[in-house]
Parts: sequence; C-alpha cells; structure tokens
Amino acid sequence: MKEEQKSIFRKIIERELTAEIIYENERVFAFKDIYPVAPVHILVIPKKQIKDLDELEIEDQHLLAEIFGVIQIIVKKQAILKRGYRVVLNTKEWGGQTVNHLHFHLLGGRKLTWPPG
Ligand code: 5GP
Repeated sequence: MKEEQKSIFRKIIERELTAEIIYENERVFAFKDIYPVAPVHILVIPKKQIKDLDELEIEDQHLLAEIFGVIQIIVKKQAILKRGYRVVLNTKEWGGQTVNHLHFHLLGGRKLTWPPG
C-alpha cells in the first residue's frame, strides 16, 4: 500500500504510530482513543481495509460478528459489563467520521448522556 493511502489507523496497526493496544488477533485490532471522551474509550477496528459502514459487504458478516465478539471480551476485561456501555459507529462527514477506516467506539466508565449532539 502506498504511503499516502495509509490512514492513521493503518499506521497504528503496522506499528508506524504508537497507541495503547488493548486487543489484537489476525483480523481485529483494538486500541485506546488518543482523545478519550469517557474513562473507557477504545476503538475496535478490522485489520481489513474497509472505509466505512457503506463499504461493508455480505462476505464481511463473519468479520463483523467477530468485532462484536471482541467488544464483548473487552467489555468484560474493562469491568464495564455491569453498569453498561455504548458502542458508536460514525459514518461519513455528517455522522462525525474523521478517520476513513471503519471503527467502533467503545465508551464506558461513566453515565453517558443521550441524545448525542
Ligand atoms: P471518528 O471521529 O472518525 O468516529 O473517530 C476517530 C477517532 O480516532 C477519534 O475519537 C480520535 O480521537 C481518534 N484518533 C485520531 N487520531 C488518533 C491517533 O493517532 N491515535 C489514536 N489512538 N486515536 C486517534
């Protein structure tokens, strides 16, 4: 992949940029958000290059299920299972997406408000 095509998250996966890694397997990667908005703020991403929700294809269904399985594992490890947490998927500009690599925000550790702004 050409250097200019690499997103920040691709560089984190490839250890060109540092991040606090929470979980990794062959397909899924999770790390702490650099600007946390809650005591627990972890980004869970596929290693596969998928830009956003709209790029997901039917063959990604197992990957998506695995991502949610990883989220369940992290939720238990971070001790946010009992009181609850939120998973957020921002898509494109008006959805608040700033990094073009599919990612799920896992937020917890405080009572979260609703609706979002
Ligand atoms: P989005 O706004 O696209 O839904 O979320 C992107 C997230 O990536 C933001 O919450 C932002 O704080 C986080 N982020 C951006 N750059 C970096 C970085 O270099 N390292 C880490 N760990 N998180 C980042």
